[in-house]
Amino acid sequence: MNQQCTADVLICGAGAAGLTLAIDLARRGISFRLIEKMEGPFQGSRGKGIQPRTQEVFEDLGILDRIVAAGGAYPPERKYRSDGSHTDTQVVEHHEPTPAEPYQLPLMVPQFRTEAVMRERLAELGHVPQFGCALTDFAQDAEGVTAQLAGPAGAETLRVRWLVGADGGRSFVRHGLDIGFPGKTLGIRAIVADVLLTGLTRDAWHVFNEGDMARQIAFCPLVGTDTFQIQGPIPLDGDIDLSASGLQALAAERTGRTDIHVQSVSWSSAYNMNARLADRYRVGRVFLIGDAAHIHPPTGGQGLNTSVQDAYNLGWKLAAATRKPTTKLLDSYEEERRPVAAGMLGLATRLLDAQKRGERRRGREVHQLDIGYPASSLALEQPSRVDGPRAGDRAPDAPVRGAAGQALRLFDLFRGTHWTLLGYGVERAAVAPRPGLHIHTMGPGGDVVDHAGHFRDSYAPADGDWVLVRPDGYIGAIVVAQHMDALEAYLVQAGLGLEDAFHG
Ligand SMILES: Cc1cc2nc3c(=O)[nH]c(=O)nc-3n(C[C@H](O)[C@H](O)[C@H](O)COP(=O)(O)OP(=O)(O)OC[C@H]3O[C@@H](n4cnc5c(N)ncnc54)[C@H](O)[C@@H]3O)c2cc1C
Repeated sequence: MNQQCTADVLICGAGAAGLTLAIDLARRGISFRLIEKMEGPFQGSRGKGIQPRTQEVFEDLGILDRIVAAGGAYPPERKYRSDGSHTDTQVVEHHEPTPAEPYQLPLMVPQFRTEAVMRERLAELGHVPQFGCALTDFAQDAEGVTAQLAGPAGAETLRVRWLVGADGGRSFVRHGLDIGFPGKTLGIRAIVADVLLTGLTRDAWHVFNEGDMARQIAFCPLVGTDTFQIQGPIPLDGDIDLSASGLQALAAERTGRTDIHVQSVSWSSAYNMNARLADRYRVGRVFLIGDAAHIHPPTGGQGLNTSVQDAYNLGWKLAAATRKPTTKLLDSYEEERRPVAAGMLGLATRLLDAQKRGERRRGREVHQLDIGYPASSLALEQPSRVDGPRAGDRAPDAPVRGAAGQALRLFDLFRGTHWTLLGYGVERAAVAPRPGLHIHTMGPGGDVVDHAGHFRDSYAPADGDWVLVRPDGYIGAIVVAQHMDALEAYLVQAGLGLEDAFHG
């Protein structure tokens, strides 16, 4: 079927995953439609932990400062004993920022506030989600996808080159593709509710009966709001009263306190915990991102973060594919992201087991800074490296200086939609400039100065090394000067060949 496409990409679902992809495509000038079946923005707090790696992604997308301003640090956990006494402990292990890792602390930002910041950024880039518009059917062929939409103006047929299902755990797109979603139901049902209440201070995350799955209840003050998020396990069967009076009765029953008064409920949900992973992330021209591809218990605060990073991995690849058919880049999305979700499912389930034993403390394992793609077909090392980061690893930050003396960070050089090529003690002219590639060199005559040795410490470079950093901040290739042909071949495959740049 050869029909004119009205947009390159249709994004189905304007949650955290869909909004991230929309921002990334918008800043790359790719045409898309972002549809959302709800009539207006989601109003719940559910994914409230923003991990350090996601903070780096948000810095690149231009929203980090707004996200930090919308939230704040996690308060200590206040564990109550049966006699009413309590102890405070830090849930989050404290680590100082380092030159290579500028963000070390998970942030607490209620999900509705994160999504509001994302919509603001999207509006700056000239786009808005189309609320009240549902995907109702789709079919694909060799050239594109034909989608049926039901929106405020009635039914509509849309022809696009790619469809991305960012439509949550019950994903219509995943079902439409008949993709299996194996895994397990974890035998735990829980409530989550955002409430206004009196009787508890806002300086701590109040936890009663921790580890007792029949009686546990937690009240977390949501930073940046007046509300608390109530969480607690509930029996697997039966109705649960999520009204203010119902939650107040539950609070009284589980805490033994009569001074906690729930005044109103702004959002609530009762859900069964599952750990499931889609068999495939892509069928032809249709992709899955976010909860559509993986669901898991909320322990460890990984879901929203993984969803954002799925979108961030796919965005630049889709953008490249709109300019030049590049199967390898698009195939690498599932190859890179599915193993990450498999690992995250195991982590969230292990943390849930630990929480059942009363252990809630979180460390580096939840930060997502160690996620990388060293086994990816997009990772090139010539020759294999012994020291320092490997191809596929996250590209560390490093404070450096511009040749003019100004303070800079490598992340300043990476920020944007381009690839970055860093040469250390190299001949700059060895790589020809081209659109989409920023070249910087360090050493004699370089435009960047590693004045304090942070680049050397983090990257362990040898004279003559070239480090190619992908648009999503992972190292694509590390090659020595004798292997410039391998680097050029890599750039061609990434759509950055000189032919493509100047004659494409
Ligand atoms: C209690 C709880 C606590 C959590 N805590 C954390 C945490 O601390 N940290 C963390 O990272 N994650 C957490 N999560 C998980 C996090 O909320 C999800 O991983 C995240 O919302 C996934 O984003 P998404 O965009 O993939 O999906 P969603 O947020 O589910 O968005 C999907 C969107 O698609 C829309 N949609 C569906 N079908 C259609 C259709 N046919 N047409 C158009 N639109 C459609 C839906 O209306 C929805 O808005 C928690 C979840 C829960 C339940």
